Amino acid sequence: MIGQSPVLAGPDAAGGTLLEARGLTKHFPVGGTRFGGHGVVHAVDDISLSLPAGRITAIVGESGSGKSTLAKLLARLIRPTSGTLALDGRAIRARARAGRGYARRVQLVLQDPFASLNPIHDVRYHLVRPLKLHGIPGSAERGQHRSGALDQAVADLLGRVSLTPPDVFAAKYPHELSGGQRQRVAIARALAVEPAILLADEPVSMLDVSIRLGVLNLLGDLREREGLAIVYVTHDIASARYLADTIAVMYAGRIVETGPAAVVTDQPAHPYTQLLLSAAPDPDRGQPVTLRGRGAPPNLVTPPPGCRFHPRCPHAMLICSQAVPPMAHTGAGHASACWLHDAGLSAAQRAPLTVAAVRSTRSAPPSGAAAPQPPPPHPDDAAEPGKEA
Ligand code: ADP
Ligand code: MG
Repeated sequence: MIGQSPVLAGPDAAGGTLLEARGLTKHFPVGGTRFGGHGVVHAVDDISLSLPAGRITAIVGESGSGKSTLAKLLARLIRPTSGTLALDGRAIRARARAGRGYARRVQLVLQDPFASLNPIHDVRYHLVRPLKLHGIPGSAERGQHRSGALDQAVADLLGRVSLTPPDVFAAKYPHELSGGQRQRVAIARALAVEPAILLADEPVSMLDVSIRLGVLNLLGDLREREGLAIVYVTHDIASARYLADTIAVMYAGRIVETGPAAVVTDQPAHPYTQLLLSAAPDPDRGQPVTLRGRGAPPNLVTPPPGCRFHPRCPHAMLICSQAVPPMAHTGAGHASACWLHDAGLSAAQRAPLTVAAVRSTRSAPPSGAAAPQPPPPHPDDAAEPGKEA
């Protein structure tokens, strides 16, 4: 059952780290605007995480927070600007082209099961291709597959994703399948190469509400039955709580809080996680959450200095606009990147940002002197006049 301690299988059952990322960063160059500006989108900045066997790690955040970019970096579909990966304890040359060996261990399942299957081929074709490329599990020599062994491997895969009877589903074409069934085929195709790690990018957000739970439970079963390490990327923190062992909350390209799923959702330490949770979970919501009325995520070409959340944060202090907060340990396995956790700040650093902004404007030195830059206005100021006054 989901949420209970998983029964693990395989040599990595002790929960050893399979994949480790350190300081992963991806900046997409953008440029040639009509204003002549060139710059970079700070899509993922300095993210470190480790993925143990038999555990589901959820990456949670609003649309545009860099979740898919992180998933692609972990799958090595794109090359990082900087940072390192280690798979099975071995360092990967991050900028080297990903080989088949890596793809065999780390598989990515995408959001849209309608786009990921070829409409002119049946299910069997979709599963036979990776089986042939990577060799049928348990069969003798690669390249010497008999069709009986392939049929058995296809049937086994369909059974693992609960598409039964397998021979019926193997012969179906994508248009004959529901969205949930298509996503199960996409998961079966990923499983065909016997990966250790499954990266699932918003795997249920395009599915009908009624069938989402079934696909989530399938991921939970794969963790428990097969000891897979799973990354569950989602904008929906409620589903992350349901499915995941660990939650990492992303905001504007950075991880701002991480910890056991129940702790992060019951005792959120970071103001952004608190904001995400305050947006009432709505099972009928199909679209990514945007927390309207409380500001919007920043432009990632020119992200706010310091804590990227500070322009939206009800607790913003002067320091928040000046320096990136370090990850602070707030409990067992629980950490949050917020200056509120630092008891050693000076009174000036703790000054509420809006008040500090007013002060620095009032006390502006004569022109020519090096004036401190006033922090940007707090977007909530307009919405809730007098709140900070
Ligand atoms: P999420 O999956 O959380 O919605 P993404 O990883 O898709 O976020 O995007 C993060 C940021 O990176 C967004 O601002 C997006 O526009 C930008 N981005 C993603 N891919 C590219 C790309 N290939 N080129 C330029 N910018 C990109
Ligand atoms: Mg995405």
